[in-house]
Amino acid sequence: MKPKAIRGMNDILPGASGTWQFLEGAVRDIVQSYGYQEIRLPLLEHTELFRRSIGEVTDIVEKEMYTFLDRNSESLTLRPEATASVVRAGITNGLLHNQKQKLWTAGPMFRYEKPQQGRYRQFHQFDVEALGYAGPDIDAELIIMTARIWQRLGIDKIRLEINSLGSPGSRSRYRETLVDYFSSVKNQLDEDSIRRLDQNPLRILDSKNPDMQAIVAAAPVMLDFLDAESAGHFQQLKELLDAAGVAYSVNPRLVRGLDYYNRTVFEWVTDALGSQGAVCSGGRYDGLVEKLGGRPTPAVGWAMGIERFVALFAECGGSAPPDAADVYFVAVGDDALRSAIVVAETLRDGVAGIKVELNLGGGSFKSQLKRADKSAAEYALILGEQELADGTIGLKPLRRTEDQSSIAINELVATLAQKLGKVALRQAMLDEHIKA
Ligand code: ATP
Ligand code: MG
Repeated sequence: MKPKAIRGMNDILPGASGTWQFLEGAVRDIVQSYGYQEIRLPLLEHTELFRRSIGEVTDIVEKEMYTFLDRNSESLTLRPEATASVVRAGITNGLLHNQKQKLWTAGPMFRYEKPQQGRYRQFHQFDVEALGYAGPDIDAELIIMTARIWQRLGIDKIRLEINSLGSPGSRSRYRETLVDYFSSVKNQLDEDSIRRLDQNPLRILDSKNPDMQAIVAAAPVMLDFLDAESAGHFQQLKELLDAAGVAYSVNPRLVRGLDYYNRTVFEWVTDALGSQGAVCSGGRYDGLVEKLGGRPTPAVGWAMGIERFVALFAECGGSAPPDAADVYFVAVGDDALRSAIVVAETLRDGVAGIKVELNLGGGSFKSQLKRADKSAAEYALILGEQELADGTIGLKPLRRTEDQSSIAINELVATLAQKLGKVALRQAMLDEHIKA
């Protein structure tokens, strides 16, 4: 019997990983161009960290965490999201006191959910967090940055929703009104919502139950309860988004599934992926650092679901550039192979950094050429008895309208570099840093 992967946990196969690399690379380049630096974090944390940050009465903590006792009977959890770990690392390593940090991280997250299209048990996020910034300018920048990502990648089937959850004070006034409202319709609430009524009534607004939607739609809205400072923060955010030409709609029922948010929350949603429409979500969490044992530090961030991002990119007609080798090296016979293995290395360490796939496993001239064509390389390099005797290499274009030619071995690097438009910079730059 064939071994099976765990339900909801996917292999990302060679045919797909090129698109992942391309999209992750594009996001990384954009985020870093705004001055954000990578932080790499463990996949495991103490369970307590997530209970305290995400909140006891949330879907994640109530029913989605992969929690287990290690051999020392400590309760550990595979991270369901990255924000808690980023904050924990900031406190642990003293990165937050009297400092500001603009950070990003990426990798797998784990939630025991019902697997379906766009919803998995191991999924991946790209995560960006800014710590130490209080104003709406950074909220705006984080949103503008995501708009740039969509624009750069031709993703247009997406729209932005924003809301403000106010301060803890205005939220608790709102909470009372909400409890009154939901209590008045208690006989129509589902089981989850009745439980949340006492513990966390805002969570009811986040209900995914279709039967609850009408009741949720008629509930009082947070925006009517905003304190003056939060209202000003929200107003300035909207003005900055207007100035940057980023379109949004205000969704007063957007509360997000985690407990730690205040003021700005936002979500990029699409209708192109069925019911799993949230592609990127985020918000402000000014209270979290202190709650986890650090000094009070304002903070804001977002997380993008990479599986949904990859799917949406394809839905919008995108495809990653091919990552084939530049040349496929055809070498017929033992003598030719011995020579080709050396020439291939010269091409690889040459300043032009030519990508070479050497034919392995032998084969006739014809079968090797077939493989060359299948490889998607631009050229086949051909080394047979004749070329060995002449000190030349055959250069056969595989996709260009150009005549086949014969190149002297000592001119091969220069000729290929010129034909492939390679720049001699890469190796020189590398050397400088390796020797430093
Ligand atoms: P949803 O409402 O779809 O459950 P969420 O509010 O739980 O999303 P967040 O915790 O904010 O999601 O995570 C940020 C992003 O990660 C989401 O916008 C989504 O793109 C992605 N995501 C969340 N859970 C999953 C999952 N189980 N599988 C794939 N992607 C996910
Ligand atoms: Mg969820």
